[in-house]
Amino acid sequence: MPTVLFLLLAIEVCAAQKVAITKVAITFDDLPLNGELPAGVTRVDITRNTLAVLQKYHVPPAYGFVNAKKLEGNSDAAEALKLWAASEPIGNHTYSHLDLNANPAEAFEREIAENEPVLELLAAKDANWRWLRYPYLREGETIEKRRAARAYLEAHGYRIAEVTLDWEDYMWNSAYARCLSKNDAPSIAWLRSSYLQTASDYLDLDLAQTKLVYGHDINHVLLLHLGAFSSTILPDAFDLLAKKGLHLVTLEEAESDPAYAADPDVASQNGGSLLDLWMEAKKIPYPPVAPKPYKQVQEICK
Ligand SMILES: [Zn+2]
Repeated sequence: MPTVLFLLLAIEVCAAQKVAITKVAITFDDLPLNGELPAGVTRVDITRNTLAVLQKYHVPPAYGFVNAKKLEGNSDAAEALKLWAASEPIGNHTYSHLDLNANPAEAFEREIAENEPVLELLAAKDANWRWLRYPYLREGETIEKRRAARAYLEAHGYRIAEVTLDWEDYMWNSAYARCLSKNDAPSIAWLRSSYLQTASDYLDLDLAQTKLVYGHDINHVLLLHLGAFSSTILPDAFDLLAKKGLHLVTLEEAESDPAYAADPDVASQNGGSLLDLWMEAKKIPYPPVAPKPYKQVQEICK
């Protein structure tokens, strides 16, 4: 093959590979802390260690979604959140992690407003904190309530921080806190392997759901929770994302994908990711997936 032709071919292959890279934004819920604290560890420790991992892996600015009620009478919580907000963007997760499916839309709207003074105070000056992450990923069990909450968000300049990738990482935060307090190394090793297996299985499921819903890949948003396990497991989780072809971007860039302009407009009893809601709206059956080890994770080190 002539050299020029070979070079052209190589460039085309590279370009095709570049197009095939899938983008994902990393986000963290339940700030200043999800789950329990290990003995002798503070919220400030957890936040500082997690921020160090984000910096080491050159993660683009990652939103942390705040429940300001957790700051009441807790200086460790307040210091931890200040630390996060000094280096990463923050968004609204309602004042007390209110479940929209269990409360009227008016209560939900009050909780969004009640959370705002802390966001206003701690967010960087030019940062946009008007992003809402629905607690429990529940957007209303009736269509009227769902639409009322969305109308409120739009009228108040909010964007919805959607979720497309989720493996319920929060379960491992309290489990790890208990096992670390007991210094139980074999259990911690199991927590690491079960976390990474579950993450891999559910990333594959979410990517398969994306094809079923949209017919092609989209930019993604990954839901994580800031807690005791975060800084120790994140390096392996980032390696896993890279192995699956997922490349880290900001939330703004991820949600610039036109896929995020469409609304499944479905009342859902259980809620779920944007993909789950589309599956429910379009009545698409789920591909098979291994169950999550709920019981083992909940019981370990008790
Ligand atoms: Zn939450």
